[in-house]
Amino acid sequence: MDLIYDCQNVLPDERICSRRNKFKGFENLHAVSCKKCANEKKVFVSESLKSKVLDICPLCEKKDFYVQRDFPQEAGCLIVIIGACFVPWTYGLSLPVVAILDFILYKFLPNITICYYCLCRIRGSLPNPQHKPFDHNLFEYFLKEEEEEKRKMASLS
Ligand SMILES: [Zn+2]
Ligand SMILES: [Zn+2]
Repeated sequence: MDLIYDCQNVLPDERICSRRNKFKGFENLHAVSCKKCANEKKVFVSESLKSKVLDICPLCEKKDFYVQRDFPQEAGCLIVIIGACFVPWTYGLSLPVVAILDFILYKFLPNITICYYCLCRIRGSLPNPQHKPFDHNLFEYFLKEEEEEKRKMASLS
């Protein structure tokens, strides 16, 4: 399995590193370190993840993920735009064709699983029926929850 994440380490000059890191076979690693700033992150591999079913995030140890097809989003948009451009010539038939094409791509392209919290991506895991496509409301809920947690931490210290 591959683990892909953007480094969120704050550098000495207070900028965020934001380097995208990719590790193949991360299930055999104990830690990964950023290729730019060398910031190390522990890798947590749950029992379930050892058999390729993702349940707990290897980086932040949370349990909420969404799945997305492993396909550049721009390419998906382009297909839709092209479909829309051909509407006048095809009497609107290009739209269902695009929808079918989209559906086929969705069916056959491998999925990538993304953590709602740390946004790391896991490629090559087996499908987990609990993981659904991206839900904006859920995402906002998690963001709020995280802020709340940070506020609590800040008030404690
Ligand atoms: Zn970094
Ligand atoms: Zn995570």
